Amino acid sequence: MERLTLPPGGAAAVDEYVEYRRIVGEDDGGKLFTPEEYEEYKRKVLPMRLQNRLYVSWRSPMGMDCKLVGPETLCFCTHRYKQHKTDFETIPLQRPISLPCQVRGCPCRAYLYVPLNGTQPIRCRCKHFADQHSAAPGFVCNACSKCSGFHSCFTCACGQPAYAHDTVVETKQERLAQGKPVGQDVPYAAMGGLTGFSSLAEGYMRLDDSGIGAPSAEFLDSPVTAMDHPFLKAFQASSSSSPETLTVGTSSQVSSLRKPEEDDMAFFERRHQERELGQC
Ligand SMILES: [Zn+2]
Ligand SMILES: [Zn+2]
Ligand SMILES: [Zn+2]
Ligand SMILES: [Zn+2]
Ligand SMILES: [Zn+2]
Repeated sequence: MERLTLPPGGAAAVDEYVEYRRIVGEDDGGKLFTPEEYEEYKRKVLPMRLQNRLYVSWRSPMGMDCKLVGPETLCFCTHRYKQHKTDFETIPLQRPISLPCQVRGCPCRAYLYVPLNGTQPIRCRCKHFADQHSAAPGFVCNACSKCSGFHSCFTCACGQPAYAHDTVVETKQERLAQGKPVGQDVPYAAMGGLTGFSSLAEGYMRLDDSGIGAPSAEFLDSPVTAMDHPFLKAFQASSSSSPETLTVGTSSQVSSLRKPEEDDMAFFERRHQERELGQC
């Protein structure tokens, strides 16, 4: 992940940058948007993102989501989920929905989760590792000629072999119809299957420059109240430089109070504006 050189007193800048990066993802092509471009981007993308969010999980044959795919989760192609197409103006009608990799030259046509064995890639029945296989459809081995396509008998924590699982891409309605959690609507890019806030802990560890580390699962999963939005509380925790700021001051208490008529986007937008004005 890229690093910013911070001006003195740059904590607010880090805060801004983390927020920016979560919203824009890879869509700026590595060159920061100007404030005008950023506003234009949000106007264009956020409504579509909140409307057409796709949830991605790795599902066991028993129907359990063994892995909720998040922005940083690796694909079989070795690129991260956030490097795949995740925003759609209209949700494709065909099923399964394919989320192709957007890294130039990558042959991956559809995001495909492969579990790791601890930190190690898993092996195919041809004995070669997942990343020795082609990411092009067919997934043949680049290291041998006897492989008819990646197939792993690695056993998931659920007791079922990896090959019996599916990477599932589905809409909010499709998840709700199965009684699966959908979480809060958030404006961030490539959220994939992340629903419970504790499922973000992994991402926090990577994004957090303060060294405080991820907030506890208990904290992240605290119930939604009118007074505070857990996502923002969590965000505050991850980006604040001193633990005291977790006890919310008067001004941020006011901003955390969500107006009843406000939708999520307006809420985030307002918080964003307030941050820009340096009120928190
Ligand atoms: Zn790729
Ligand atoms: Zn891929
Ligand atoms: Zn193989
Ligand atoms: Zn092989
Ligand atoms: Zn499983």
